[in-house]
Amino acid sequence: MLLNTTVLMLLLGGSLLYTYNYVRDLLIQENNNHLASLSQVLRSQIEYEKNEFQRYADIVSEDLRIKQYMFVVVNIGNEPAPLQKLYQRQFGWLPISRYVIVSNDHKLLAGTKHADLASALRSIKADSPRGALYFYGKHGLELVAYSPIIYRGSHLGTIAVSYFLDEKWFSRHQQDTGGELFLVRNNQVVQSSVSGQLGKKFKLSKQQVELAGHSYRVHPMIFAPAVGEIPRMWFALPETSLVQRLEKHRLTLIVIVSLSMAVILLFGFIIARNFTQPLTQLINITREVANGHLPKLDKSHKKNEITELSNHFADMLQALREKQREIDRVHAALEKTAITDNLTGLYNRHQLSEVFPKLQAQARRSNHSLFAILIDLDKFKLINDNFGHICGDVCLQHFANRLREVSRASDYLFRMGGEEFLLLTVGDDTNGIIALAEKLRTVMENTSVEYEGRSLQFTISCGISSANLEDEPTISIKNMLNHADTALYLAKKTGRNRVRIDEDLAA
Ligand code: GH3
Ligand code: MG
Ligand code: MG
Repeated sequence: MLLNTTVLMLLLGGSLLYTYNYVRDLLIQENNNHLASLSQVLRSQIEYEKNEFQRYADIVSEDLRIKQYMFVVVNIGNEPAPLQKLYQRQFGWLPISRYVIVSNDHKLLAGTKHADLASALRSIKADSPRGALYFYGKHGLELVAYSPIIYRGSHLGTIAVSYFLDEKWFSRHQQDTGGELFLVRNNQVVQSSVSGQLGKKFKLSKQQVELAGHSYRVHPMIFAPAVGEIPRMWFALPETSLVQRLEKHRLTLIVIVSLSMAVILLFGFIIARNFTQPLTQLINITREVANGHLPKLDKSHKKNEITELSNHFADMLQALREKQREIDRVHAALEKTAITDNLTGLYNRHQLSEVFPKLQAQARRSNHSLFAILIDLDKFKLINDNFGHICGDVCLQHFANRLREVSRASDYLFRMGGEEFLLLTVGDDTNGIIALAEKLRTVMENTSVEYEGRSLQFTISCGISSANLEDEPTISIKNMLNHADTALYLAKKTGRNRVRIDEDLAA
């Protein structure tokens, strides 16, 4: 029972944790998808920006006056300074951060203070077509678009316009996409759309970053082509609040699952104690009952179905015990009638086989002899004939009572059948036994039976046999009875109302 509850609880706890992880993974996946699609939007915007900016570079490079003056500067060697003024006048309105015009041999002709920008252009070939690149310098990340200045078929130089990917750029894209942007160099945030993150450690693990107590899912943004090494840009979405809450409450969930398991186990234990235990006790008791025992079952005062059942069972056991006692009483009575004679209460002849071995053993132990006195009522048929069978029965009972009175407690008394009786005993004195038989005979001779106002008298004849176990170790009851019968026959033959000991044995 407890084992089942534990397994069930483990399964429940396991499935709960599995569901938790599944939901969490699903939310993270959802977040990742969202991040990927937003970063795709951002990428398109950046690409659009790049193209737009390229257009600015093209506009400047296509300007005829700039081309012509460029031609004069390059081919005739005029001062390049007016080129700068010309640019300012014509294109000062363009939304660009800075510009440079360089000759094919990388001489800076306009935008002279931006030598860094000019040197960034050194990486492109002198006669290369239009293009854009990213560059990281003292102004931060910068988008540079360049176009060749071609006049009358000859390549005169290059114009490059740039745009700073500054705070404004960051916040504009933050607003457009809803995601945050982090520029990271040597694991440190060097620029960000989130205020107060500058200089913070950017520790990436599994596409996830913890920054100032916030958790972000991040996606890298590639800025290419780039001149030199540029910091990595990360597009970030805060972890959904649900995932954060789930993460936060994971421990709480585990504690709740463990506590509920403990509570359910406790309940299981209580149920096992209150229900399973009494049931097991009942099962054991029914087993005992099936094996023929009737154990005692205490009643309980608790009020529930199990104790009610148990109490009914206790009542049933009590009733069964009383019935069993009744059966035992009847059985004992039956046993008694089986071994005794109904009329006289003396042992019947079947008991001889039970009693004789005991007497034999007793005689052997005490080194005494066995004695049998076979008694037959004289002329008993006459009593029956003259006074009726019932009167005969009364006479038989009368004799049995006298026999009990005269004999000793250690003697065994039998009714052998009809009006024939037997006394079996152990002793060392043949004369004592003869005296006992004589006494019985005298008592019967001198007493009378009162029946229906009449006084009846009858006598008995006795035949005695004895056996010394040293001489006859294997003597049987049959032998002893034969010998006693011989003696009895002699008593009858010699006139009845007398005691005879088997002549042969006596000799
Ligand atoms: P004897 O002196 O030679 O022994 O003569 P007897 O008449 O006693 O001998 P017998 O064997 O001829 O008769 C025995 C009689 O005992 C026969 C029967 O009517 C009587 N009897 C035997 N059993 C019972 C009994 O249970 N009740 C009664 N009333 N009479 C019995
Ligand atoms: Mg007889
Ligand atoms: Mg007789």
